[in-house]
Amino acid sequence: MLNSSNFCCEDMRRNLEYRCIKHGDNIWDCPDNLICYSDSFDEFGIIIHDGGTSYIRILFCPFCGKKLPTSKRDLFFKILENLKLEWDDEKLPPEFKTDEWWKKRGL
Ligand SMILES: [Zn+2]
Ligand SMILES: [Zn+2]
Repeated sequence: MLNSSNFCCEDMRRNLEYRCIKHGDNIWDCPDNLICYSDSFDEFGIIIHDGGTSYIRILFCPFCGKKLPTSKRDLFFKILENLKLEWDDEKLPPEFKTDEWWKKRGL
């Protein structure tokens, strides 16, 4: 999860934390949720509201223009490759579903 030090600005924080009454944590269905954050990849994106859970990765904050963290997506797949695991493998350790895998490796 993000803590307050992860936010580059107040607009980003407000957008990421916004939850409406109707959709709650289902940010993918809520047209008012614009930005998403993936803690397993440590990357930010603009939500594509097409009924799925896809997003366009962004490298800079659309509000304040600061550079966002470098995505750990490539590292993620490299480590999985070394472990001979697929991302949807049921043997995938739960640490890879959160930020645990890169935090505990000090990445
Ligand atoms: Zn910002
Ligand atoms: Zn909503």
